[in-house]
Amino acid sequence: MPYLGGMSWDEVLGHKREIEKLRSGSAAGRLAHAYAFVGPAGIGKQRFAFEFAACLLCDRHVDADLDSCGECSSCVQVTAGTHPDLLTVALPEGKSELPIRLFVGDRETRGKEGLCHDVSLKPMSARRRVAIIDDAEMMNEESSNALLKTLEEPPPDSVLILIATSADALLPTIRSRCQVITFQPLAAADVQRLLLQQGLTNDEREAKQIAVLCDGSLDAARQLLDPQLRAVRDELYELLAAEPFRSVQTAQRMIECLEPAGSEKSSQREYAGWVVKFCVEFFRRALLAAAGAPAGTSAEIPQVRAFLQRWSEPAHETLDRLADLVERSLAAEGQLAANTAIPLCLESFFDDVGKALRS
Ligand SMILES: [Zn+2]
Repeated sequence: MPYLGGMSWDEVLGHKREIEKLRSGSAAGRLAHAYAFVGPAGIGKQRFAFEFAACLLCDRHVDADLDSCGECSSCVQVTAGTHPDLLTVALPEGKSELPIRLFVGDRETRGKEGLCHDVSLKPMSARRRVAIIDDAEMMNEESSNALLKTLEEPPPDSVLILIATSADALLPTIRSRCQVITFQPLAAADVQRLLLQQGLTNDEREAKQIAVLCDGSLDAARQLLDPQLRAVRDELYELLAAEPFRSVQTAQRMIECLEPAGSEKSSQREYAGWVVKFCVEFFRRALLAAAGAPAGTSAEIPQVRAFLQRWSEPAHETLDRLADLVERSLAAEGQLAANTAIPLCLESFFDDVGKALRS
C-alpha cells in the first residue's frame, strides 16, 4: 500500500459523518470486530482506514477518544508503515484477485502465515492487532472462505477493516459479519482542494472544472487530468456545437478516440463512459444556461453558447428538449455500464441525439 503521509483526522478530507459514527460507537464501548468501509473508488477510504487504525493503536489515546496523537512510537510506526500490529493486504500489482496465500500462506506454509494467521497472534506492542484488507471485493472464493473463518470466530484483541467499492460486491456471509460504513463521494470543493494540494494541477480554473465533473472521486479526477482525455472532451464539445450536428461522424470519431485507450475492453469502456459523461455534462450546462443561469457560472462555455444558438423557438420547448437529451445521455451511461457493445451503444446514442436536435 502506498505511503499515506502524516496521520490525523484533520488530514482526512470530508467524511465527518463517518468519523462521528465510529467515534460514538467506540465511546459507547461498541467497537466492532470487523468493519466494511464501502464507497466509490478514489474518495479516501484507504487513508481513512489508516487513520482509524492509528486511533486503535495509539499509546496515548483510549478507544473512546478515537484519536491519534501522531507522536507516540505507535503513531510514528503506523505513519511509517512499520507497525508490527498493523497488518495489511491489497491487490498485488497486475493481479485481478486477492490470492489465498495472502490470507493463510502458501501451500507449504498453509495456516502458518498470512493475514488470518497473523491477526490471531498476541499483539506485539499495542493493545490489539488491526488488519486492513483493501480491494476486498477482489477476494476469490478461497480467500473469502479463509477470511470468513476468521470473521466467524474473531480473535480477541483484533479489529478487521475491509475496504470495498460497494457492499454488494462482498459475499453476504462476509458482509453480515461486518459493521458496514458507507462513504459518500467527496464534495466538489474538497476535490478541488486536493487537486491543488497534491500538485496534480496548479491551475485553479482547471481544478474547479475537473472537480465538478469527477463525481467526488479523486481517481476520476486524476483520469480527467489525462491530456488525451481532455482532448477527446474538447473535440466532442466542438462536434456537439456544430450546426448541423452530424451523428454518424461524431460516433465514428469518438469510437476512433477509444483506440489509444488500448486493446483492453475495460479501459475502452471506461473511456466510452467518459464520452457519454461529457455529453451529460454538456447538455446539463446547456440546460442551465437556457434556464437563465447567471453569466460567469460553470454554464459559460463557448461551445455550449454556440450550441444554444440553433434554437429560436420558445424557451420552454428548448428546455424540454435539453432535459430529454440529458436523460438519453444518462440512459447511455447505464447501457455502457451494463456491458452493451461499445460501438453499438455510441452509434445509437449519437443517432438519438441527432434526431432530438433535428426534430
Ligand atoms: Zn499516538
